[in-house]
Amino acid sequence: MKIEEHFTLARLTTVGIGGPARAFARPESVAELEKALAWAAGRGLPVVAIGLGSNLLAADEGVDALVVRLAGELAEVETSDSVLIAGGGAPNAVALHRARAAGLGGFEFACAIPGTAGGGVRMNAGAYGGDWAGILVRALVVDAEGSRWCSLDELDLSYRHSSLEPGEVVARVEFQLVSRAEDEIRATVAEMQAQRKATQPTNKRTFGSVFKNPQHELGAGQLLEACGLKGYRIGDAVISPRHANFIENAGSAQATDALALMAEARRRAHEQFGVVLEREVELLGGLDF
Ligand SMILES: Cc1cc2nc3c(=O)[nH]c(=O)nc-3n(C[C@H](O)[C@H](O)[C@H](O)COP(=O)(O)OP(=O)(O)OC[C@H]3O[C@@H](n4cnc5c(N)ncnc54)[C@H](O)[C@@H]3O)c2cc1C
Repeated sequence: MKIEEHFTLARLTTVGIGGPARAFARPESVAELEKALAWAAGRGLPVVAIGLGSNLLAADEGVDALVVRLAGELAEVETSDSVLIAGGGAPNAVALHRARAAGLGGFEFACAIPGTAGGGVRMNAGAYGGDWAGILVRALVVDAEGSRWCSLDELDLSYRHSSLEPGEVVARVEFQLVSRAEDEIRATVAEMQAQRKATQPTNKRTFGSVFKNPQHELGAGQLLEACGLKGYRIGDAVISPRHANFIENAGSAQATDALALMAEARRRAHEQFGVVLEREVELLGGLDF
């Protein structure tokens, strides 16, 4: 496994923002992942796992860490009876395809979440009333000390939250699914995707939801829309005209532009509704919000 230096993170994030990672590796097995983590520990370097970078904003100056993106067998998916076993780096689209081919339902909600099995554990990703917590059985977690299986209880999943600490990498995930006909799965997925297309910017560079939905009758997007922020722009970062809880990279947006937009959005939501919006997007590389 090669360890590359100064790999540009903009290439690994859906929003296309981010400077270089001090070191970058694509481990293809648990043994390679353990080796990479030991390499980082030996140098006192923190470790960051990146999935498809679909909920990440990385600093323009880069990240002083070893960034790992799981590949090879750590990005593969198989089924065993009604259990879907996904490598931590397996894209949700691949896992959904495998589940459907095996006649297994329960993962359809993930069709709208452009991340990986491991990133989904970290974020307890969810949509359309389903989330990782609802189907996850256990996850193989690797850190500098070695690897261990963690149960659903140990992972303590709740709304966009897990107990995973920085440096803990999810290498494999097991999901309990249920028997469902392929054409029913297809129909549900088509319906969810059409709904997404109608309400969210699906063909723009974004990092997904900027803020978590607050305890309020309006969701974060509705609050920000009511603040008149749709289309508001700083540099090349734009609050999506389609859905105000998304920031689009309209050209060569910088992380600082996105952060400035986030600050303005939070300020306005507080001023007009008394709501303090909590960040959902994960920040990398010393960004503060
Ligand atoms: C258009 C769009 C729509 C979206 N819609 C939804 C939605 O409906 N619901 C929803 O929940 N999210 C949504 N998201 C956000 C995002 O897709 C999810 O949070 C997803 O689960 C992130 O997965 P990822 O693999 O891309 O993780 P990344 O964005 O790469 O990383 C996110 C966090 O997870 C950590 N991480 C990644 N991989 C691992 C691993 N293997 N082990 C440990 N930690 C890891 C990272 O360090 C980081 O802290 C959307 C994003 C976009 C761009």
